[in-house]
Amino acid sequence: MEETTKSVDQIFGENVFDDATMQQRLPRKTYQKLKEIIREGKDLDLETANVVAHEMKEWAIEKGATHYTHWFQPLTGVTAEKHDSFITAPMENGKVLMSFSGKELIKGEPDASSFPSGGLRATFEARGYTAWDPTSPAFIKENATGPILCIPTAFCSYTGEALDQKTPLLRSMEAVNKQAIRLLRLFGNTTSQRVTSSVGCEQEYFLIDREKFLQRKDLIYTGRTVIGAMPPKGQEMDDHYFGSIRERIGAFMKDVNETLWKLGVPAKTQHNEVAPAQHELAPIYETSSVAMDHNQLMMETLKKVAYRHGLQCLLHEKPFDGVNGSGKHNNWSLTTDDGINLLDPGKTPHENMQFLLVLSCILKAVDDHAALLRQSAADVGNDHRLGASEAPPAIISIYLGDQLADVVDQIIATGSADHSLEGSKLMTGVSTLPDFMKDATDRNRTSPFAFTGNKFEFRMVGSEASIGNPNIVLNTIVAEAFSDAADELEKADDFDLAVHDLIRKQIIDHQRIVFNGNGYSDEWVVEAEKRGLPNIKTMVDAIPALTADDSVAMFEKFGVFTKTELESRSEVEYETYSKKINIEAKTMIDIISKQVIPAVIKYTTVLADSITSVTAAVPSADVSTQREKLTEVSKLLTEANKALEELVKVQKEAEAIEEMERRAHATCDKVVPAMAAVRTPVDELEMLVDKEYWPMPSYGDLLFEV
Ligand code: ADP
Ligand code: MG
Repeated sequence: MEETTKSVDQIFGENVFDDATMQQRLPRKTYQKLKEIIREGKDLDLETANVVAHEMKEWAIEKGATHYTHWFQPLTGVTAEKHDSFITAPMENGKVLMSFSGKELIKGEPDASSFPSGGLRATFEARGYTAWDPTSPAFIKENATGPILCIPTAFCSYTGEALDQKTPLLRSMEAVNKQAIRLLRLFGNTTSQRVTSSVGCEQEYFLIDREKFLQRKDLIYTGRTVIGAMPPKGQEMDDHYFGSIRERIGAFMKDVNETLWKLGVPAKTQHNEVAPAQHELAPIYETSSVAMDHNQLMMETLKKVAYRHGLQCLLHEKPFDGVNGSGKHNNWSLTTDDGINLLDPGKTPHENMQFLLVLSCILKAVDDHAALLRQSAADVGNDHRLGASEAPPAIISIYLGDQLADVVDQIIATGSADHSLEGSKLMTGVSTLPDFMKDATDRNRTSPFAFTGNKFEFRMVGSEASIGNPNIVLNTIVAEAFSDAADELEKADDFDLAVHDLIRKQIIDHQRIVFNGNGYSDEWVVEAEKRGLPNIKTMVDAIPALTADDSVAMFEKFGVFTKTELESRSEVEYETYSKKINIEAKTMIDIISKQVIPAVIKYTTVLADSITSVTAAVPSADVSTQREKLTEVSKLLTEANKALEELVKVQKEAEAIEEMERRAHATCDKVVPAMAAVRTPVDELEMLVDKEYWPMPSYGDLLFEV
């Protein structure tokens, strides 16, 4: 294959209409104009758009593209596209022209009525618009349909309300930029022009054999197994994490990397994760909006490439009970256009007033909006992780690490800090190993929000979710804290004194959010409750934070969401929850009724027949084992069937509820436990029934035979 002989720098960004390509292909004036528009957020004029569109089309056609699409991220969690070919009406000579205008580049008009809108738009007002986001480069996706020119866009209703992830994310980036610049100016910085939020997200996923996947209706319909007994081996040996990568998986990863690099996605790290068949891929961090686009491309690429390799990629947060689920650690920081990372403490954080102010603002932001931040990571699959003592707990707290925790303690105790802990030399006891300095801070894997050197790592985000919501919330809550701080400091007569006092006040007021211990322990749950920190266990219970008064006030103040948009989003969340669980419940009903129960009945018949035939042949033969098995299996079969009847009943009742919030609660309180009640006897049955009769691949087959 031709690609494999090319070097990475040759293929990187090959399919992206990136800055270098634009500089090379656009007339100089147009290029400069476009850069200015992007940099300063100005309106795009039609003349510039026409030139850009023309060149983009020429470039795409050279790469074999026949179609273009406005590529957007509605509230479905995945991306949407509708392809249009470049051909225009046949000319008189029967030929067609290939054209693409500035207008087509800037604006699209998909029928919005079939996307979730939470009542924002009645179906008779189906109009929705997609608008080009010039801050995220156009790219070419190579599908079986042929190469498609994809134009990243924002998606809004006819009345301008956001129907997507991109619009509010861009608004939140603007908000945090504006407020961060205010703070920087107070510290005498006159040179930085912009502050950008950046994100690097570590994507976890499972890979299983596609043939086996196709034999599991639950995986097909819901992305997770709704039944399944644990095999003799799970993850207890810790032999998968960072283990050497098997050839089949290695070939897959190579293909994934190359596909992503072509798309300009800086895929960087790959390794096996904790659970068997689980892996991780992390890119180098980028501007939040681009990182969000790229994460969607990453998820899509993982699935597509898996298919080509006879594999199936599972992005669900909890495909298998009993082994770890998947998350997407969201590494977040704020950087100026001239390269200053506001979250970099430097060597001596205790002297770095700007950093300490930023830090204390983040403590305040996270403490004030803990429930909202928790909500931003809520999705249906994540309910299996958060609070289920594997991933971060459902309680939001901040881990600072030894060095910062010590500085914070000094400030609380004496009003200011006079030293910072330093990293020491690492002693291996082996003279041939090079000496190096270890970090001043160890890692903590149990914290949902951890300081990791020069960034915060928000670890609650689910593997399948868009990183839109968490970053919208992060940017906005921090913008609010910055804004409050700037309001106060701009009025101060003595700036140094005022900063000092404000840092101390914020740290003292919000110290309850700092927790450096084991987030998985039961003591923490008790301690957190004493501290008054919210412990929100389910997605349904998390949703109200979206429309709480303080959330609405904040989002409106910074122009990120209107109250109407928030109400619509909360409606979409309730609806999504109810629908997804409903599909899971119906899938369970389907496979238990049509596959599991019939299989178990067959097996009981085999046991009964064997008792009869064995005793017929040898009347004195001992058939007590067969009898015991038959009794045990029959008992569990009855239990399973009873539980199934109950599930059928509550599923129907919940589905009949019209109002979405009530339906979500009924689903959460009744359907979810009813599903668990079905699962218990079924998983026990799986351990008893002859494997030949069990109607689908087991956990062992799925997790260990890839
Ligand atoms: P860890 O093992 O600490 O989780 P990784 O090497 O897996 O670290 O990287 C985590 C992610 O954090 C990567 O995507 C990386 O690019 C990203 N990252 C590193 N520095 C920053 C930063 N300043 N801001 C945002 N993300 C960052
Ligand atoms: Mg990591």
